[in-house]
Amino acid sequence: MKIIFATGNKGKLREAAEVLGPDYEIVSPASLGITEDIPETGSTLQENSLQKAQYLFERTGLPCFADDTGLEVDALGGAPGIYSARYAGPGHDHNANMAKLLAELAKLDDRGAFPPDPLRRDAPTGMVSRRARFKTVVTLILADGQPRFFEGTCEGSIATEKRGSGGFGYDPVFLPDAYPGRTLAEVSEEEKNAVSHRGRAVRAMADWLKNR
Ligand code: IMP
Repeated sequence: MKIIFATGNKGKLREAAEVLGPDYEIVSPASLGITEDIPETGSTLQENSLQKAQYLFERTGLPCFADDTGLEVDALGGAPGIYSARYAGPGHDHNANMAKLLAELAKLDDRGAFPPDPLRRDAPTGMVSRRARFKTVVTLILADGQPRFFEGTCEGSIATEKRGSGGFGYDPVFLPDAYPGRTLAEVSEEEKNAVSHRGRAVRAMADWLKNR
């Protein structure tokens, strides 16, 4: 089955192809001549994901899916959340985004102050909690035009510095609970897909497609 994935991100296209397997031919909007930025003006992951899938469906009439992902950091009140791509500015610069994230968390650390605040911080280190999670919402639209939603979460924490060269986006600073001591940029693509937010959401979509 041919299905459009609303992304220009080669990492995401590869991940989805691996998760969906050989029964699906995943095509990018660019390969169909759709090269403009798809609008993302919603206020939730679901709204943004729906907006992207609907945009493509209206233009092509073909089966398509879109994802929207946010990184929620507890100590930052859930930020950057839906603003993850433009956390450090409109340029979508992932190095700048990671630098800002590490700087914001470092600002909150007591580092040596005593006693640490037991309510907000990881006693007894005085370091702020670095608990975080990626969340993805996938919207699938088939020929009937009805949107269907699939969600995936990956629990973990934010590292104190970047490590690893795999993956993309915030991967070098995200330590998934599933692989203690390694960032998502230090695990194989297969390992990442097995536990990642998008891997889980795309697998849920694949299961639904198989069982419908
Ligand atoms: P979007 O949903 O692709 O717009 O992603 C929002 C932000 O999250 C962007 O900064 C992406 O680089 C980042 N992001 C999305 N998925 C991942 C991932 O699997 N690992 C790390 N960062 C991601």
